[in-house]
Amino acid sequence: MKIITYQDSSYASFVKKLNRRAFPEHGVRELVSDIISEVATKGDEAVFTFAKRFDGVELTRKNLFVTEAEFERAAREVTAATKDAVKRSLANIRSFAKRSMRKDWSAKNAEGALVGERFTPFNRVGVYVPGGKAPLVSTALMTAGFAQAAGVPEIVGATPSGPDGSVNSALLYALQAAGATEVVKIGGAQAIAALAIGTKSIRPVDKIVGPGNRFVVEAKRQLIGAVSIDLLPGPSEILILSDKTGNPHYIAADLLAQAEHGGDSIVGFVTDSKALLGKVTKAIDAQLPTLSRPDYIKQVLKNGTFLLQVKSFADGVAIANDFAAEHVSLITADEEQWLPQITTAGAIYVGNDSPVAVGDFLAGPSHTLPTGGGGRSFSGLRADQFQRRTSIVRLDKESVRKSLPVIEEFARIEGLDAHGRSTAIRLEK
Ligand code: NAD
Repeated sequence: MKIITYQDSSYASFVKKLNRRAFPEHGVRELVSDIISEVATKGDEAVFTFAKRFDGVELTRKNLFVTEAEFERAAREVTAATKDAVKRSLANIRSFAKRSMRKDWSAKNAEGALVGERFTPFNRVGVYVPGGKAPLVSTALMTAGFAQAAGVPEIVGATPSGPDGSVNSALLYALQAAGATEVVKIGGAQAIAALAIGTKSIRPVDKIVGPGNRFVVEAKRQLIGAVSIDLLPGPSEILILSDKTGNPHYIAADLLAQAEHGGDSIVGFVTDSKALLGKVTKAIDAQLPTLSRPDYIKQVLKNGTFLLQVKSFADGVAIANDFAAEHVSLITADEEQWLPQITTAGAIYVGNDSPVAVGDFLAGPSHTLPTGGGGRSFSGLRADQFQRRTSIVRLDKESVRKSLPVIEEFARIEGLDAHGRSTAIRLEK
């Protein structure tokens, strides 16, 4: 863990680096570009080769998709408690999604033409559910669940299988409950490429959503255009910003919960209270031995964790906005003042009693959120991202008449006289 205070000489340069821009790494960019080219030219065969190389699984056209029998077995194996958890989480997702969906509208413009927007769901979307380090059952709900709520008829789940070709039962159950109509057992950049471009066995989709590791994220970035994407959600992050009112045990527990994702995850704690900084450090040390994924956690504590003492809470807020974390936990005696000032977080958890884990699994908003500083440019996944927007214009003779002088003026300036003529002709006898 890097512990640093505003009095340290390295403080200013450390804080400056917290203002991040996600650039693709050269090596990853090249590797992913090669994987995409292979999938584009060799199709299924390339997908099978990469599945063997990266996931150690022998895939063929016969076992590439989850079968009906596998879905049925998953439903039998999953406990009643799991089914209930999935049901409750999906209920919150649906009610949240309903509120954020766009509705058709129409109104008259200044010339009396009827203008409006119509929203229709995408026909076929791909939902990537990471499978490398943990079966992210909740991610199936937090992606497919929103597509289902938006009325997408074809939802293709993609997740890497284990070396024996199987997919976790709870994950399969959740994918089906959240509306997946097909599940293909592939992961990584090759999965994104296959969904975007299509192969003999995999029909291409119109949009791909969902988080993943650096290979998945880079493949989505390179394939924008072939498909639409949601955002580039990579390794998990949290920044906890607390004044002296923060409970150190809760704060340590939330930091450790994000560190549990392992890999390139980033965990930050920012406070203006020296006493709280000391207590949180001690609480992390005390809680760590009680958790079941110490290797993942230690890796993040070593490489991706910082504890920062700032001079004032306002400095902390500025740092949180620069850092643009996926999750910000805000704990302060003056929520009214500070909450509106945090503007770049993917999601904000407010107060001592709001663990990020509740948002990860149950609360309602999608946990698929921008990382790597992407919060400045992207928002988290929402139901309306599964809606295609089409604008609609209808004129009558009167609105044509009122529009004509403006159309003719633009036609003159741009030298496009056929444009002017196409409008004027409608007023001729
Ligand atoms: P993953 O499914 O994203 O990646 C596994 C796949 O990566 C494998 O199937 C394999 O094909 C490919 N791969 C592995 N090593 C490779 C290599 N050397 N070269 C090329 N391809 C390779 O699963 P993961 O690795 O567990 O990562 C999931 C990530 O998603 C984590 O970082 C987690 O923090 C993040 N996540 C983010 C959010 C969010 O909203 N931001 C939500 C959930 C998870």
